[in-house]
Formats: sequence, C-alpha cells, structure tokens
Amino acid sequence: MNHMRKEDRDMKKIDLHKLFTFIDESPTCFHAVANLEKMLDKQGFVRLHEKDTWKLEKGRKYYVNRNGSSLMAFTLPSTKSLGFRMVAAHSDSPCFKLKESPEIAADPYYLKLNVEKYGGMILSTWLDRPLSVAGRIVVKDGDGLRSCLVNLERDTAIIPNLAIHMNRDMNKGVEYNPQTDMQPIVGAVSGKGSLMKQIAKATGVKEKDILGSDLFLYNRDKCRLVGVDDAFIAGPRLDDLECAYAGMAALADCAPENYVNLCVVFDNEEVGSGTKQGAASTFLKDVLERICCGLTISREEYLCMIADSFLISADNAHALHPNHPGKADETNRPMLNGGIVIKYHGSQKYATDAYSAAVMKDLCNRADVPYQTYANRSDIPGGSTLGNIAMSQVSVSTVDIGLPQLAMHSALETAGAKDPEYLIKALRTFFQ
Ligand code: ZN
Repeated sequence: MNHMRKEDRDMKKIDLHKLFTFIDESPTCFHAVANLEKMLDKQGFVRLHEKDTWKLEKGRKYYVNRNGSSLMAFTLPSTKSLGFRMVAAHSDSPCFKLKESPEIAADPYYLKLNVEKYGGMILSTWLDRPLSVAGRIVVKDGDGLRSCLVNLERDTAIIPNLAIHMNRDMNKGVEYNPQTDMQPIVGAVSGKGSLMKQIAKATGVKEKDILGSDLFLYNRDKCRLVGVDDAFIAGPRLDDLECAYAGMAALADCAPENYVNLCVVFDNEEVGSGTKQGAASTFLKDVLERICCGLTISREEYLCMIADSFLISADNAHALHPNHPGKADETNRPMLNGGIVIKYHGSQKYATDAYSAAVMKDLCNRADVPYQTYANRSDIPGGSTLGNIAMSQVSVSTVDIGLPQLAMHSALETAGAKDPEYLIKALRTFFQ
C-alpha cells in the first residue's frame, strides 16, 4: 500500500479543513457566494455594486456579485495591465427546489413538500437521508425589499424509499417520477403552515413580510475523508464548490503583475447558464468593460487586452469508475488523486485546444502538480460546462479543466483528497 508522506498529510489537512467548512456552510449558491465574500472581506477586497459608478485604483482588490448567486473578484496590478488572467467555476449544484405554496396535505396523515428538480440530479441518491431547507427569501422592509439568506440547519425533511417487499424488482432499476415519487415528508397534516413559520423565525422576519423565496432541499451530510488511508473526500456539492473555492483562494493569495487577475463563480450552470447571472449572460463582459472604464483604459486598449487574455474554466471531471471501467474513454482515463483533469471535446463543448492545453500543461509543470486528460467515449455524448458558453460573450483562449470525481450529481459525491491542493497550487502559479 502506498502510504502518504507526512508532508502531504499535513498540507492536506490544512487546506482540506477550510474547503470542507466552506462546502458544509454553503448548502445553496447564495450561501456559497456569501461565504466567498466573507473570505474576500478578510483578505482586504473592496465590495462593489453594479448600480454604482466604480472608481478603481491600481494595486487594489475588488469583488461584485449579481443576484447574490454569482460572484466576480479581481485584483489590479500596480502597473499597466496587458490583459486578463481569469478562472471560472460555478456556485450551483443539482438539488430539489421548493415550488410556491410548497406544502401538500397528503391523506390521511402526512404533510409533504411540492418540489421540482433543479439540474440533472441522480434522483435515487436523495432517498432515505435527512434533508434540510435553505436558500434566500425577499422580504418587505419599510418602503423597499430586502433579501435574506435562510438555512434551517436541522433535519427537516426525508424522502422515504418504497420497501423492497412492495417492489421486488427494485434492484433491477427503478424509474422515478419526480412529481409522485420524490416528494419529501416533513410532518403531520396538523403541522400545515409550520414550514414558512420556521423560515420566518430562522431569519427574524414576520411571515407576512416574505414576498419571494428561492428555497432548496439540501443533503445534511458534511464533507469527510474516506478510505483506509484517507485517500478520498465524500461530500455534497463537490461539483463545483471544490473549484469555486480553489479559484477564489488562489486569487486572494496572489499579487498580480502586468495582468488583471479575476475569478468568477457563475450561478445556473446546472440549468444551462441562460440567466442574467449565468455564464451566458453579460456579467463577465460587463465587469471587464467596467474595470477598463474604472482605470480609464480606452476601447482600443481593452480589445488589445482581450487578445492577450486567458481563461481557465474549472468544473469537475469524471474519474474512471472502478466498477464501470467500460464507461471511460480508451486512452483518457482520469484517476482520483491523479491531479488536474484537462478536458477535450471534438465538437468543442469543452473549449480546450492545442494551444490552451499546452498553456495548462506548462502551468502544471511549473507548479509541480500532476495533470491528466479526459475525453468522452465517442459513443457517449457527455455534458457541457462554462468555458464555451462564456465565450459567446467574451472571446479569449480557454482551457476546460476540473478535479476528478465519481458519482457526479449524486447527493453525495466522491473525489480525491490530494487533488484540491494541486488545483490551488496550479491556480496560484497562473495568477502569479
Ligand atoms: Zn459542474
């Protein structure tokens, strides 16, 4: 057995503890953004608002969010900027979203929640585990409206499986209907109305003042190490909070020279990115233009900077599954703890090309971290990600990468314990 070196163990513990805390405390995209903002505040970043005029100073660090669910942070060099060094990840993960008027009185006893799918989730993984409710609410506040985060932080709901005695074929595969098979129970009918009361109580507002909500179910499991030698991480939302954390942590660690460093965490990647805060929106383009306005850089100079820019689109990748090796490509078979995965796709769902791959490999070599490659089997379509979607708004050389993981879009995913540190190291090298 390969025993981990003591230095590796110590290094792993330090960074993984922070990563685990971040994921545990970020049950929704809104919490992920708020927690990243707290991290940036501690590092001296200045908060900007899109509705204000920006007066930027060279050598300083800033961040701005859109919708409370997408976040962009950037650091300005004290010299003239030649271009942008950018990292993108996403803040959202597949889960269940509560519909309006979510409580269903199911006869004769149960109170259930009316939920719908958010993203391409593995439905069966949400069965038989305690779930809670989190998200944001919008409340009446004097003459205006105010947005508040909410997290019930208790075992609130559960979606029970059917007993095997009632479906003897269950282990041959089950088709789940999200409307009829996946509604969680939260209590007895007599408790109708208690969910919104608890939401109001948890946020310290009057229930009648709650005018809007984006509420989700989340898995109550915490991130932890698994394996005889702690080789694996098991946790919810590893896709893509691992990369979101690594991107922001690396950005905050580095002082930029000659380039504007930027990290963006987009919402809504799991549902196609087509919202005002998604990767297909103008958010990135708007912020890049406003950085130039704030530094009185001309349009011509801006376009020169764009031509000398690079984007690392960081979204988790599929590792080879030991029980299903035939699902992996024949020659591109990433392993957990094998390092950063560079993703390729002939039809360019991944934006990687020869040039951007070479930049990334060179970067990994300089950072002294391992890399590996991923391609779909030619007979399996695979998913899409942020890189090529964002490129419809801002066109720069882009590489798609990610950390290797198993069970992508399960309520509890598995990844390698060494890989997050590799990504942070490589991104630090990129930003320096
Ligand atoms: Zn993802």
